[in-house]
Amino acid sequence: MALSKLDNLYRQVILDHSSHPHHHGSLENSSQRIELNNPTCGDVIHLELDTEKGVIKDIAFSGHGCSISTASASMMTDAVLGKTLEEAIALSEDFSQLVQGKDISELEKLGDAAMLGGVAKFPARIKCATLAWKALEKALEDPETGIGESGLLKHEED
Ligand code: ZN
Repeated sequence: MALSKLDNLYRQVILDHSSHPHHHGSLENSSQRIELNNPTCGDVIHLELDTEKGVIKDIAFSGHGCSISTASASMMTDAVLGKTLEEAIALSEDFSQLVQGKDISELEKLGDAAMLGGVAKFPARIKCATLAWKALEKALEDPETGIGESGLLKHEED
């Protein structure tokens, strides 16, 4: 397949996710929720997770952002739903490597998110692509995002 056609395919998948994002909205029951923004572009994501026994049972996001950040959030929710927290963190680390232009061993595990690898060529957009994944990592790694403890935390990326 010619590279330009491949690029078109990727662009179409990214546009599909940004115009019809998966798992968009909010959860009735969430165990973690977090809001994170990317001031460089103005993207804001509000992410909610329902985790039980170390597994992501449900996930939803809302907020507003550019098509890359929205598509990436949609792809992220597809990739991590049903995964263990460790698997989700590992996927997030893989994604971070991918958008920095590094080779990763199990690209297919990222699902459609693998298509955002081209962002590596556009350094200004990398933070758009990683916003949802950073929100996921912070929600899973930072015990303070548990709603029972301190409610909704706001973080700002610098
Ligand atoms: Zn953006």
